[in-house]
Amino acid sequence: MSTETSAVNEYSNGEITIVWKADLCIHSANCVKGLPQVFDTQQKPWINAQGASSAEIMAQVQKCPSGALTYYVNAAPEGEAGIPTPAVMVAEVIADGPLKVEGRVQIKNDRWFPG
Ligand code: SF4
Repeated sequence: MSTETSAVNEYSNGEITIVWKADLCIHSANCVKGLPQVFDTQQKPWINAQGASSAEIMAQVQKCPSGALTYYVNAAPEGEAGIPTPAVMVAEVIADGPLKVEGRVQIKNDRWFPG
């Protein structure tokens, strides 16, 4: 199941939903090279959420350097355990660049940084 109607598109395999924010994509091609059975720009829609396991997709999405790709775990049907989210959060400092943060994180800030 997918919706591809705006700058923010969602693709679900039932267990997880991949969220792609086109405006944030820096076209590094990490996703296409890392998991081509899911991320294939020659296909429409270009994301096939059925192409790999949820664990493989979550691992690849966490390697997106721009934050264009994220995911959320869908609510498990009543009586089912659902998919565990990553227990470890990783923050990597990229040379002369931003922080690359993997895992579920809540950022608190009382002001916006200048653009
Ligand atoms: S990994 Fe992220 S930034 Fe790179 S092409 Fe894929 S969506 Fe775009």
